[in-house]
Amino acid sequence: MKKLSIVVPCYNEEESLPIFYKTVCDMQDQLPVELEFVFIDDGSKDRTLEVFRELSAKDERIHYVSFSRNFGKEAGIYAGLQKATGDYVVMMDADLQDPPALLPQMIADLESGEYEVVATRRVDRKGEPPIRSFFARKFYSIMNKISSADIVDGARDYQMMTRKVADAILSMGEYNRFSKGIFGWVGFKRKWIEFENVERVAGETKWSFWKLFIYAIDGIVAFSTAPLILASVFGLIMCLVAFLFIIVIIVKTLVYGDPTGGWPSMVCIILLVSGIQLLCMGILGQYMAKAYLETKDRPIYLVQEEK
Ligand code: UDP
Ligand code: MG
Repeated sequence: MKKLSIVVPCYNEEESLPIFYKTVCDMQDQLPVELEFVFIDDGSKDRTLEVFRELSAKDERIHYVSFSRNFGKEAGIYAGLQKATGDYVVMMDADLQDPPALLPQMIADLESGEYEVVATRRVDRKGEPPIRSFFARKFYSIMNKISSADIVDGARDYQMMTRKVADAILSMGEYNRFSKGIFGWVGFKRKWIEFENVERVAGETKWSFWKLFIYAIDGIVAFSTAPLILASVFGLIMCLVAFLFIIVIIVKTLVYGDPTGGWPSMVCIILLVSGIQLLCMGILGQYMAKAYLETKDRPIYLVQEEK
């Protein structure tokens, strides 16, 4: 029988985790595979780690890794993939927003040998603040225009993959890990399953609007260099405009004898140009900062306890 590893990154999930574990265990007879659980404690401040210990004392299919601090979900996924030993690996959230009911179908698709990855996407964003949905949509449409990685709107990290794909993802050892981009970048034959949004069973979302915004910027910087081109384009446009202005001023002075006035327009131009310069420096800075962090070659996570 094949083995399926279920990787679950958890940050303060003491309430949802037992429910998650029970729901998946109850489905065991519908799943034609042996199960293995890989729980990751991403520096939780609540009893998540104790819950891991209690569950794993009773069930030897459970393995866990506890980080020394919060390294983020992306690091959790990486650690989980490293720890997983199954022929198939699936990533799931602890809050049951990734419906386990899809598991049998996903396994069947991989077993058929036709696909290497079965990915899921939400078709709606029910129960989410409208402003958040709006920015999320915008993010995906921009991202797909400027990046070669195929990043699908509503795609979840809930994906089941064969060992081959898991190893491909592990081979990307970059520090700035934007999973949605990494999954798209590695390619392989992929099937999409769609489902309707489910609200989390317990606890609260760990993503504030600000955290999501930073995440979006990280994603763009990690998987596209288009903003750098944008910076050059801005520069070019400003040069052209300046050139035109110079001609206009020269002509006005020579032909009409116009005294070169216009102090207010000068202020506007200085403000605009220096603003654009700062913006472009900021864009450059983003890439430099990422390159700086990558060259440090720091570990993606640090382990405090594992089993
Ligand atoms: N998570 C994590 N580290 C973090 C934030 C979140 O491991 O820093 C986990 C969290 O425990 C959950 C999953 O990532 O299992 C998704 O988080 P959440 O449900 O808060 O996000 P949402 O579904 O609201 O996008
Ligand atoms: Mg969630």
